[in-house]
Amino acid sequence: MHASQDLHTGTGSSIESQPETRQSIVAKIHLDALSHNFAIARKLAPNSEIMAVIKANAYGHGIVPIAAALKAADLLAVARLDEALRLRTEGIDKPIVVFSELISPAKINTCSQHDIGLVIHNRDGLNTVIASSLPVPIDAWLKLDTGMHRLGFSTQEFAAAYQDANSASSIRRVHLMSHFATADHMEDVHTDRQTALFESCTTDLKAKRSLANSAATLSKPHTHLDVVRPGIMLYGVDPLETPTEHSRQLKAVMHLEAPVIAVREIGSGESVGYNRRWISKKPSRIATIGIGYADGYPRSAPNLTPVAIRGHRVPLVGYVSMDMICVDITAHPEIQIGDMAQLWGDQVRVAEVADLSGTIAYELLTRVGKRVRYDYIRD
Ligand SMILES: *Cc1c(COP(=O)(O)O)cnc(C)c1O
Repeated sequence: MHASQDLHTGTGSSIESQPETRQSIVAKIHLDALSHNFAIARKLAPNSEIMAVIKANAYGHGIVPIAAALKAADLLAVARLDEALRLRTEGIDKPIVVFSELISPAKINTCSQHDIGLVIHNRDGLNTVIASSLPVPIDAWLKLDTGMHRLGFSTQEFAAAYQDANSASSIRRVHLMSHFATADHMEDVHTDRQTALFESCTTDLKAKRSLANSAATLSKPHTHLDVVRPGIMLYGVDPLETPTEHSRQLKAVMHLEAPVIAVREIGSGESVGYNRRWISKKPSRIATIGIGYADGYPRSAPNLTPVAIRGHRVPLVGYVSMDMICVDITAHPEIQIGDMAQLWGDQVRVAEVADLSGTIAYELLTRVGKRVRYDYIRD
């Protein structure tokens, strides 16, 4: 299968099949890499269910095709109710959990109608659920705040919240969860403290329990419990500060590519791009690539950020423009107009570009622009 799908934006376009538009910006989504990464999570947490996190358009990869490809997942998770409804509309029938909604009677009803589970993270939300009379009771995920201090019941509130949720007729099953702030650091006392707090508040309660994000799934087996919640690792990004044997095996799912649209020779002492940020030290050959910050390539990328063309890593030179970037290809005379450049993927890790640009891979992936075409590939 190698099909250009309109599932990403939902806007079909027949122009896409014309040959000229083939050489445009494309995010190639390798579904085999997704399956490979999922299998690593399964292998590392063989006794836990896997809740695949596909919020924010599956971290920018296209929520519907990714959900459809994750057949082996036990549950799916999104941030907002609209994302869950989109999945139901597209015929995805797996259990879905909504992580972070402002809970209202209308939303609770929608969850009930479409069999969508809801994270209940404060007393107001819980009371609203308890007061709802629903056609079908919903699955509730009670969130404990163990130290992230963003969402969740306090440790003092939690036991009562559990009792009330357990006896509510609008709730079918109660599950327990919490979220780590710093699981990407292997030797981290904060994660240990959060884990211990979660254990002490939940061991006596009869319910499925969930703690681990990708980093903890990869590196902290004692946090796996009943359900693990990997996100970023499924897309092939290693979240660990210190990689492990398994995290090293993750494969990039998105390969973001754009064409070389112009090549020129410049003399020594000439500048490239806005504000003359880069100036050549010798006569140089410069390629202009048709992707810019409007497409999600970060404007904060510094000079020398790597871009791959024909298997070579060549350096970014000058500021990133709205629609273009320039790279120095002096060392590789075979590079020419029409070649496809990889901005991130298997040759340049998205985390590397993110790091150089002062951000994280999560942000770059979720900010891929609307002009980018998505091709879903299974080898
Ligand atoms: C986003 C999210 C995850 C997944 O985190 P990764 O670091 O991408 O693995 C897990 N749990 C919750 C509550 C989340 O919001």
